[in-house]
Amino acid sequence: LFKNYVSGFPKESDMYVATTPTELKVPDGCSNGVLVKNLYLSCDPYMIVLMRKSIDPRTFTSYTPGSPIRGYGVGKVLDSRHPGFKEGDFVWGTVGWEEYSLITSFQPFFKIQDTDVPLSYYTGILGMPGMTAYFGFYQVCSPKKGERVYISAASGAVGQLVGQFAKLMGCYVVGSAGSKEKVDLLKNKFGFDEAFNYKEEPDLNVALGRYFPEGIDIYFENVGGKMLDAVLPNMRSRGRIAVCGMISQYNLDKPEGVFNLMTVVYKRVRIEGFVVTDYYDQYPKFLDFVLPCIREGKIKYMEDVSEGLENGPAALVGLFSGQNVGKKLVVVARV
Ligand code: NDP
Repeated sequence: LFKNYVSGFPKESDMYVATTPTELKVPDGCSNGVLVKNLYLSCDPYMIVLMRKSIDPRTFTSYTPGSPIRGYGVGKVLDSRHPGFKEGDFVWGTVGWEEYSLITSFQPFFKIQDTDVPLSYYTGILGMPGMTAYFGFYQVCSPKKGERVYISAASGAVGQLVGQFAKLMGCYVVGSAGSKEKVDLLKNKFGFDEAFNYKEEPDLNVALGRYFPEGIDIYFENVGGKMLDAVLPNMRSRGRIAVCGMISQYNLDKPEGVFNLMTVVYKRVRIEGFVVTDYYDQYPKFLDFVLPCIREGKIKYMEDVSEGLENGPAALVGLFSGQNVGKKLVVVARV
């Protein structure tokens, strides 16, 4: 459960575990309700933003103190009064961080059709982060073969996939991450052309110049702040920046300034933010592309798994110190 609104960096103690007796059926009078046994819970950076008190409900609605935190998860239907779901179905979508969730709002909620791949993949490569990488890269970045692509937070859930999509397209791909282990993964497992540890670079602008002597065509922005400022002067004319997220800013009470924005004018750079939920109606198209890539081994995917709901708070908070190596998820139960 969520304890209270957070300012600054979140802590494990901002969440706590409680036990409440639950009847394992959809209550009478709850037409359309679906009762789900949760199997896998996804740890996503946006969840930390929901722990802060929203100053503008049009942008997001905060978690309610004393209620379970909510996020993406994979589960099995135990009971259903909804015509689209039946007992035994596997599903993914928004659930509570709890063993069993009664679902009454289906925004989003998908029935899983393909179960020959690990079900946990629907928290990542086959779920929200996968769609973020796919639509963010192919639609927002307008990529062309041979272009030079840079990805920050590159070894995470979204970044590892963006880099591989860019390689499949025939691009030159460089990623940054926060440890030697992650840099090795980018180069040796995910097939990036180059990778570097941003924490060891005294000057990010210089580092980017080293990897992109002719400039960057596409920047897939996951981090913001100083990283964005260093990227801007390294952009090529008519480059594109897809603003997926800015994780370095989420826990700051006052966001950092970005000083090199005039470059956008001189170099005719297009900067475009996007939100993955806008693409959920295209889920079948995404699956048609990505499922064969997984089955044929064209895309590698790495998860970082914590066992047990009680380890959820540490798993979630760990995203902000880079403790996760790959897509972070929590196992609540296995089938
Ligand atoms: P990751 O799996 O990449 O985990 C977060 C990683 O971010 C950490 O492992 C860490 O890696 C890095 N990080 C944490 N704090 C900082 C910091 N202060 N400076 C630089 N890097 C930091 O997360 P996701 O792949 O799930 O998400 C990546 C981005 O995509 C986030 O910004 C997220 O908010 C955004 N997003 C946006 C969506 C949209 O619809 N627009 C949907 C989904 C995600 P390292 O060790 O390399 O520092």
